[in-house]
Amino acid sequence: MLLGLPEFEFSSAHSVDEACALLSKHGERATVFAGGTDLLVKMKHRRTIPAHLINIKGIPKLDTIAHDGHQLQIGALTLIQGIEASQVVGKKFRVLKQAAEVLGTTQIRNVGTIGGNLANASPSAEFAPPLLTLGASVRCVGSSGERLIPIGEFFLSPGKTSLRQDELITGVQVPDLPSGADCIYLKHSLRRMDVAIASAAVFILFDGDVCRDVKIALGAVGPVPFRAKKAEQCIRGERLGANAVETTLLEAAAQAAADESFPIDDFRGYATYRRKLVRMLVGKGLERLIARTRA
Ligand SMILES: Cc1cc2nc3c(=O)[nH]c(=O)nc-3n(C[C@H](O)[C@H](O)[C@H](O)COP(=O)(O)OP(=O)(O)OC[C@H]3O[C@@H](n4cnc5c(N)ncnc54)[C@H](O)[C@@H]3O)c2cc1C
Repeated sequence: MLLGLPEFEFSSAHSVDEACALLSKHGERATVFAGGTDLLVKMKHRRTIPAHLINIKGIPKLDTIAHDGHQLQIGALTLIQGIEASQVVGKKFRVLKQAAEVLGTTQIRNVGTIGGNLANASPSAEFAPPLLTLGASVRCVGSSGERLIPIGEFFLSPGKTSLRQDELITGVQVPDLPSGADCIYLKHSLRRMDVAIASAAVFILFDGDVCRDVKIALGAVGPVPFRAKKAEQCIRGERLGANAVETTLLEAAAQAAADESFPIDDFRGYATYRRKLVRMLVGKGLERLIARTRA
């Protein structure tokens, strides 16, 4: 069935200040419009009926990727395809490139933005698990000025974030990985273009054979993407040199991640299946990172 859009007013902002002023003026009636790949689908299905759309695509300089020697700054309007193609992302933040590569189809990646991916606050948002393991922050601007929200405090519930009504995401700030650290993102979906049934990002930092730090973040297995901290505790500070011990510890971490997840049953998969996927993805992620570190 071809679904039409509900009626709405439309205005275009040409600066961040103008967008914030329009958000303040129209209040709850207004919604930001970036690529529209999430928003228009929701509007067609009447899951949201905003009276006023504020197009932010004309705001200059929000679509750039820059690295200042210590951290990466990704503008909110950066296309998924732009992240996939970025040399600095590919070289220093490979895990973000991995997330971009598996998000939707080429058409979606050519229109959808990273700001939209985060603001939409889907439990399966592709960039959330990698950004959680990287310790990223979301930069936003509203009528009371600019603030940085740690990504772990950004997602509140499905579709809800800690953004205030008059705030706009302007970018994402990602600190460099510590020297020697590595990070991987794994997603399971039925077809390549589908959203994740379960996903996991794993970050690991070794000091010789000892796991000095580890971060494990999960997507699509709870109301918001989250860190599996009990799983991390299974291996943080442990010597992962002797094979038998290592296998036991990795299995314990993967199982703890599955136990920490609280997925729902839906048309994509049952909760029990999703927990099994978490165990598999986390186990595989840890094994691959350890193999890469020792190569
Ligand atoms: C066929 C299809 C496949 C998809 N596959 C995937 C997938 O595999 N993985 C995945 O994660 N997603 C997927 N998506 C969802 C979507 O494409 C992405 O989440 C995309 O990054 C959204 O970006 P957008 O610019 O299109 O957001 P929009 O649709 O424009 O906006 C989404 C929401 O964010 C708000 N918003 C947008 N930008 C800002 C901003 N700068 N500040 C404040 N609020 C803002 C809007 O008001 C809206 O509520 C898919 C969508 C489709 C249609």
